[in-house]
Amino acid sequence: MDIKIMHLFPDLLNLYGDKGNIECMRKRLNWRGIGCEVVPFTTEDSGFELSDVDIVFLGGGSDREQKIVCRSLLEHKAELKDFVENGGSLVAVCGGYQLLGKYYKLKDETIEGLDILDIYTEQGKGRLIGNIVLEADFLKESDKLIVGFENHGGRTYINGHKPLGKVIYGNGNSDKCGCEGVMYKNVVATYLHGPLLPKNPVLCDYILTNALKKKYSDFTELVPLDDRLEKTANEYIVNRFK
Ligand code: GLN
Repeated sequence: MDIKIMHLFPDLLNLYGDKGNIECMRKRLNWRGIGCEVVPFTTEDSGFELSDVDIVFLGGGSDREQKIVCRSLLEHKAELKDFVENGGSLVAVCGGYQLLGKYYKLKDETIEGLDILDIYTEQGKGRLIGNIVLEADFLKESDKLIVGFENHGGRTYINGHKPLGKVIYGNGNSDKCGCEGVMYKNVVATYLHGPLLPKNPVLCDYILTNALKKKYSDFTELVPLDDRLEKTANEYIVNRFK
């Protein structure tokens, strides 16, 4: 068994080490004897090919970097949309999350999005920065608190979409909605930056399980790993902001 991850624009969208999420997915697969190939795709590359890709990862970046990648991403809008509609796994963080929507409106201009999700983002007053804790109902009771860090000027409005979680501490999609991120088919889109998956191994396994189920019809579940250290770190943060 193996999984192929396409890492979109690792050179431009890697704020706060979003790349750590790729390492986390790779390790958690390898520890279970499952292979993992990571292929980068940058603005220099041609030949965008998703047919044998299982997970696409799109990290976060500044408004400037978003504008650069947006031009390249829009050339592959149809392929990415088909990938998602056919159940491909897509993980998008912060700037990457915003680009999945219809648009990201800045003070003087608007960045066109991929229109994969029925969401839009508008720059608000000030930035929403800090630690964040979410409650994610799709995870089992003992593991449903997701911890992370957010830093964004954009406020995202998710219309009828299901959020990733309910905000327990912090801001999330906007300063008012009390919700964070979006879950759609096998898309997990979130403002939670940096090493999100190492801090939340259950969310990582959720993403990997979806990808493995899609690829291997007889796949049922991942063997458990010893996550005592990761869970202690997660609980420490949850308790700090209770
Ligand atoms: N540039 C976007 C914003 O500020 C996203 C930033 C990010 O990825 N941290 O809203």
